This record gives sequence, structure tokens and C-alpha cells, in this order.
Amino acid sequence: MFNIIFFGPPGAGKGTQAKIISNLLNVPHLSTGDILRKKLLDKDDLASELRSIMSSGNLVSDEILNSIVSARLKIEANGGFILDGYPRTLDQAKYLDNYLSENSNSIDYIFNINLDFKFLKNRILKRSSEESREDDKIDVIETRYNEYINSTKKVSKLYKDNYSRIFYEIDGSSKIEEITQKIKQILKKT
Ligand code: AMP
Repeated sequence: MFNIIFFGPPGAGKGTQAKIISNLLNVPHLSTGDILRKKLLDKDDLASELRSIMSSGNLVSDEILNSIVSARLKIEANGGFILDGYPRTLDQAKYLDNYLSENSNSIDYIFNINLDFKFLKNRILKRSSEESREDDKIDVIETRYNEYINSTKKVSKLYKDNYSRIFYEIDGSSKIEEITQKIKQILKKT
């Protein structure tokens, strides 16, 4: 089974790799950032609440994220899934663990893409000019990176400690194709 989680700071390339691997394995790519950005188009109260949180670089509530992800997993993930951007907090990790065990399911691979902040900043600014994302502005990048350090790193550490057998560190400074190759090798080997 291919139940996969991608971790990594904003701009490390986890979305790019998750998309490539999703096409390769033909399993759904669940990017919580993409799902939330689609919700912004609804123009209702929830959308304006989400916009103000996301454009400041802060995290959306666990309650909203947990219900979005469990709903998507229920519909789409019977033959595997790739989680990109979730879980990002310890509460989300606990929720996911419970959800998976209640459904007799589990994680098979965890890829943690690492990249230094100085490289991240440049990559995000480049993406900002290409995709015009509101949260890719210089002043918001630091908040997003701090959210990663203060919340999400604790989650990836927990998984690294508890799931060391399926936890793979990936160097995000390599070329996109090289990183894909490395991930493919790991998927093939095991
Ligand atoms: P991303 O595209 O993954 O960088 O996500 C963009 C923004 O969506 C983040 O800065 C958060 O505001 C929000 N977001 C995405 N995933 C989560 C999550 N798992 N928990 C909380 N907020 C999230």
C-alpha cells in the first residue's frame, strides 16, 4: 500500500514531489494548502476567515483541518494517499493516528524534505512571482517558517522517533529530478 506523508518547511519542494509521486503511483495527492486555497473562492464567512489566517502565514485551526482531511480520506483514499501539508500540529497527528487505526489503516512511508531557510526564502519569492500567492510575500514567509519550526517540526520529530523504519530524510537542495529518483528508489526497495 502507498500511504505516504511528506514533511518539510514551506518552499522545500514537498508539493512538487508529492504531485509527481501521486501521478506515478496513481494515488490521490491531498495538499491541505491547495484544498484551503480552493475554499477561498467560495466567498462565504469561512472563506474570509481562512483568507485572513492564511494571508498572515498562521495555521488554520486543527478542527477545520481534521474535518477536511478525514472527509477527503473517506472518499478518496481507499487505494492509498499522499498527504502534503498535514499533519502540521501534534493535535492533527493524534487525530490522524486515531482515524487510521479506526479504519484499520496505517502510514507506509514518510519523506522529510530538508532545506535551509536562506534557500527557502529565495524559492518562495520566485514562486510568488509565478503563482501570485498572497502568503508568498517576504514578511509572511518568516511567520510561515516560524510556524513550521514551532509546530510542525515537533510533529516530524514524533514520527521520526515512532516510525523510524519508514521515515526517510531527503535533501531538498538537490535538483527536482534527483529528489524524485531518490524517492522512487526508496519506494522500489521496500
Ligand atoms: P501550504 O500550501 O501547505 O504552505 O499551506 C498554505 C497555508 O494553508 C498555511 O500557511 C496555513 O495557513 C494553511 N494550512 C495548510 N495546511 C494546514 C494544516 N495542516 N494546518 C493548519 N493550517 C494549514
